[in-house]
Amino acid sequence: MIQAFHKTDRPSAPPKSAPSPTDTTLGQPLRCAACLAEVTSDQACVDGGGRFTNPAGVTYDVVCFSSAPGCYIQGDPIVDFSWFPGHAWCFALCGACHQHLGWYYQGPSKFFGLIRDRLVSPAADR
Ligand SMILES: [Zn+2]
Repeated sequence: MIQAFHKTDRPSAPPKSAPSPTDTTLGQPLRCAACLAEVTSDQACVDGGGRFTNPAGVTYDVVCFSSAPGCYIQGDPIVDFSWFPGHAWCFALCGACHQHLGWYYQGPSKFFGLIRDRLVSPAADR
């Protein structure tokens, strides 16, 4: 006996709703202040962040970015002393010169918190 295999849940066409970043020209690149390698762009900025002080008493102005392709992440995620409750952090370093640029946070959301002073924007110089 041959039974036809009815498969009604066959995969449909791939989702075409993925946002295509065709308008990247609107974003200003943000560069590492130490080596001027491109780290991210102001388009990736998702939050103005804030001012935070670490346990050593050092205060940073931190801006949040959804992505930072110019950074690499170092170390294991650490939950202690997180400035963003529920998020563990790792160091985020410049991919070109290894300068410490900020932190990568992961938890309910994932984002980079980068130190404002360590990024330069060409537009900001004018
Ligand atoms: Zn750099």
